[in-house]
Amino acid sequence: MNKILSVLTVCGLLAMSCQKQTLSNSTSLTSDINADGTNPNITGRRCGSYEVLEQQLKNDPSLAAKMNAIEDFTTRFQQNASMNRLVNGVIVIPVVVNVLYQTAAQNISLAQIQSQIAVLNADYAATNADYSLTPSIFQSVRSGNTNIQFVLDTVIRKSTTTSSWSTNDAMKKSPKGIAPTSPTTKLNMWCCNLGGGILGYAQFPGGSSATDGVVIDDNAFGSTGTVTAPYNKGRTATHEVGHWLNLRHIWGDANCGNDLVGDTPLHNAANYGCPAAGTKSTCTGTPVMMTMNYMDYTDDACMYIFTLGQKTRMQALFATGGSRVSFAQP
Ligand SMILES: [Zn+2]
Repeated sequence: MNKILSVLTVCGLLAMSCQKQTLSNSTSLTSDINADGTNPNITGRRCGSYEVLEQQLKNDPSLAAKMNAIEDFTTRFQQNASMNRLVNGVIVIPVVVNVLYQTAAQNISLAQIQSQIAVLNADYAATNADYSLTPSIFQSVRSGNTNIQFVLDTVIRKSTTTSSWSTNDAMKKSPKGIAPTSPTTKLNMWCCNLGGGILGYAQFPGGSSATDGVVIDDNAFGSTGTVTAPYNKGRTATHEVGHWLNLRHIWGDANCGNDLVGDTPLHNAANYGCPAAGTKSTCTGTPVMMTMNYMDYTDDACMYIFTLGQKTRMQALFATGGSRVSFAQP
């Protein structure tokens, strides 16, 4: 056990403030980091989207080609502004919320569901109050209004004897789960008790419509009711819907990896907690990290922007020929 590991073990017994302090030290020590850029020694945000994608790519030999075609289309969209059909309009995505509950508390209230829709609308319109906290070095690349909005369509509730769900999509299938409603035109969200410390996971564009949508733990869904700090501001869904809209983790799921966006800095790995402003990565150019990007692993209170490049990637899905254009139909 090396020094950093020892420090983290000690910190595991202490409060978050200790954890925060050691995080900035540990992020540069890549030997402590998994190949996908997550840190096995930290009890922080965990999203299952990348693991689920890797499994889907193994199970479906045709998925890689579909996703490559979406990337090619996205590149053409980035290079040709006239393909953008959102110049004067807003895409409004109907949302179906599927609630699976074993306990009364897990059967979250309509108010809690509505709080999640409100957070999504604020964050994707950049009307979130903390948007103004953006450090000056990132103000020129932050997204502004993405013109993607969400409206609550239906809530479906189902009592279950399942106490904990994994990332195997069982919650999306009958008889135990709830099959998605109109998954080619509506965003399906599942709210249930996820095990393994996972806060949520999403399916990327290109996957099967039978499992399309995002899954959010009941204690991280919305910003009121049963939410638990530090995941109590609805940002787990902002992050997961970001994946659903084709965004990758800002560290590219590898050490100094590629998130397919030009205006985000290189990150060594996932950042956790609430890093100090100005923290730099050791990647090429040693850039200041954009730890407040929704696609990092920081706490809800410490993530509050997308970038213009991320906005373009998302909007490409809704252009004519885009992989989620069916969601944008009137
Ligand atoms: Zn994620």
